[in-house]
Amino acid sequence: MTDELQILIPEERITERADQLAATISVDYAGKGELVLIGVLKGSFIFLADLARRLTIPHRIEFIAVTSYGDSESTDPGAVRLLMDVRHDIGGQHVLVVEDIVDTGHTLSYLLKLLEARGPASLESCTLLRKPDRSEVDIDVAYLGFDIPDVWVVGYGLDFAERHRTLPSICVIPQPE
Ligand code: 5GP
Repeated sequence: MTDELQILIPEERITERADQLAATISVDYAGKGELVLIGVLKGSFIFLADLARRLTIPHRIEFIAVTSYGDSESTDPGAVRLLMDVRHDIGGQHVLVVEDIVDTGHTLSYLLKLLEARGPASLESCTLLRKPDRSEVDIDVAYLGFDIPDVWVVGYGLDFAERHRTLPSICVIPQPE
């Protein structure tokens, strides 16, 4: 690990929370048929893998990719663009969107609207992290790992300029002004 990083959520706490979330989701969707987990690339890939392997209900995996903010060409800071869609129709299916982090909420709000229009039997979201102080859009997250302060975090799938994604813990990285 690099010197400037500080552990915010250690690996053991993430594992413990993934166990709890998977157990709750398994109970909530029991007997409902196959659950479609949609991982939001790239940041959710490790959380999705850990969560999915703990589920005791039938499920399948899809991925979707969107641009996050920081797109300098955009005049709207909340603008989100679809980069890669899911492969299969989700009409009539129970769908759970799996996110790494909800910051302003624009990305998840965009995704939920996009997917809702396709007529799933149900549509909920699960996010490992959320920054309540940064919220700009009111979204009901059904399954939440941790609320965190307004800091930039890396590790466990999350990056800074594509670095640090494979750190086992969630760490804080000082943000350049
Ligand atoms: P929102 O649309 O909720 O503002 O932003 C969601 C996206 O912003 C996340 O999917 C993630 O890509 C990025 N993001 C927001 N905060 C952080 C952070 O602290 N660390 C990392 N690595 N990405 C973040």
